[in-house]
Amino acid sequence: MRTKLIAANWKMYKTPDQTSEFFRNFLPLVSGHTRDEIAVCPPYIDIATAVQAAKESNVGIGAQNMYWEKEGAYTGEISTGMILAAGCKYVIIGHSERRQYFGETDDTVNKKLKVALDAGLIPIVCVGEVLEEREAGLTEDVLRRQCTNAFRGISAERAAKLVVAYEPVWAIGTGKTATPQIASDAHVVVRAEAGKAFGKQFAEDLRILYGGSVKPDNANALMSEEEIDGALVGGASLDPKSFAAIVKY
Ligand code: PEP
Repeated sequence: MRTKLIAANWKMYKTPDQTSEFFRNFLPLVSGHTRDEIAVCPPYIDIATAVQAAKESNVGIGAQNMYWEKEGAYTGEISTGMILAAGCKYVIIGHSERRQYFGETDDTVNKKLKVALDAGLIPIVCVGEVLEEREAGLTEDVLRRQCTNAFRGISAERAAKLVVAYEPVWAIGTGKTATPQIASDAHVVVRAEAGKAFGKQFAEDLRILYGGSVKPDNANALMSEEEIDGALVGGASLDPKSFAAIVKY
């Protein structure tokens, strides 16, 4: 039985004050909710506030990115050691916006994944096709390539905490959601790749989240799919009531 993970990706939204306000309103709405694991990934500047606010609650905090070096002259970057020391449990790796605007590649995703796993963080590795790839019938090829490269050189033992998020790029922030069937079909491909890399049992236990315009009114249909083990939520996670409604789908 895979416990679903419902994770918020706040992207570049909210100040520390707005973060405090979010948690003041959100925590009472989900207190005592044990069916699903809940995570919030705010901008770095808000992590300390979020960790403090969510202390002793059922909500874990994550970062939206990381760098693979421990420390050094890497202006603007942040290491897994720093993320852990700040109190994070999760880290998002390879989000399509990082791939699209900040030059992330399958190779950098693989480097980051290795370091995040070794640090003991729960990495949420994002994969997904762009619209042209879907329309050209390339979705499966893209997912296979992204997964094979992300998982390269990692043993099943080392990968134990891995979480994958299938996020079709055409559904992110567009209001267009993949149907539960489209998402399930993609998850089957990702699970098969995990099976090849890490073995059958690992693949059966792997949590694969869906992300792409998840909202309170479509969360239930998506989360009812056997193949879908949670959600990575952008826009709809910024409002405490809306994110709580998704958590409670
Ligand atoms: C995301 O940022 O990972 C995402 C899925 O965004 P949205 O829910 O806004 O589509």
